[in-house]
Amino acid sequence: MATTTLHHFPVKTITSPTTITQFPENPKTLILQQCKTTKDLNQVHAHLIKTRLHLNPSFTENLLESAAILIPNTTMDYALSIFSHINEPDSSAYNVMIRAFTLKKSPQEALILYQKMHENSVQPDHFTFPSTLKACSRLRVLREGEQIHAQIVKSGYGSNDLVDNTLIHMYANCGKIEFARKVFDGTSKSDVFAWNSMLSGYVRSECWGEVLKLFDEMRDTGVGFDEEVYIAAEKMIKKIKSAGYMPNAADARLDAEEDDKEASVAHHSEKLAIAFGLIKTRPGTTIRISKNLRVCSDCHNATKIISKVFSREIVVRDRNRFHHFKEGSCSCNDYW
Ligand SMILES: [Zn+2]
Ligand SMILES: [Zn+2]
Repeated sequence: MATTTLHHFPVKTITSPTTITQFPENPKTLILQQCKTTKDLNQVHAHLIKTRLHLNPSFTENLLESAAILIPNTTMDYALSIFSHINEPDSSAYNVMIRAFTLKKSPQEALILYQKMHENSVQPDHFTFPSTLKACSRLRVLREGEQIHAQIVKSGYGSNDLVDNTLIHMYANCGKIEFARKVFDGTSKSDVFAWNSMLSGYVRSECWGEVLKLFDEMRDTGVGFDEEVYIAAEKMIKKIKSAGYMPNAADARLDAEEDDKEASVAHHSEKLAIAFGLIKTRPGTTIRISKNLRVCSDCHNATKIISKVFSREIVVRDRNRFHHFKEGSCSCNDYW
């Protein structure tokens, strides 16, 4: 069956026809996936119309997804024309369009479509919400975000990890960090992205005390950090080492090997928090951190050098006092 159908297709546009054998159940969908340009897509589209297969929603949806998302560097014009010819677009058709508009940095259009979906009584689902919330996040439109949140609760998608993460991100990005925290506290806290969304939110709102607390909590629960945090910390340490910083391994756990000791000092939560702050805030912004314990001498020394190398003021409040780091020295004159 599959081979006879293939003969009618413009074979030249198919880049690797050999893969057809791996997926014989729906060769036309596969051909759509292999289209690389809008021109390829036009030919398949013409064929679908000729054979009246375009009336089959699953083919149209695949066509739509190819036009909107899979073909690189295209505008949404072609996808919009396909979409406008769908008789009664269902949630998947809307989802493709909303996702594409959000991906292509047209969040306004994504929200207009979401509104249209609502007007046409098409039920949104757990694929609709993340893209729509991302659009709100980009536009920083809290009111719309809150309305979508209400819709999520109403339709029972509140315990979906992806939905929760985008909610956290949306609230944090709209400056409502306490709402973000509320959503976060309602999750299972097993998803590393939720922690990292929360972390970025605190950094953006400059709640450094909370950043540090969250770092410690993350370590205790063993969720692990975003790769980004470690990379930032490593780069930071490398840079201050070339400016004369020598890790003082005496402050690390005594049972560790030399290399491990250095690594564990480098990953003291205040260093991670500062590294995170350096990449997440605008140059020149003061980084403020508070800590329940006394700051260790290695972190103190590192922070002095960081303040100079990165031209940042860093204020650390530890159990006993404030340390105000600026241009390579600390307000405590190294006495604490
Ligand atoms: Zn330390
Ligand atoms: Zn100090």
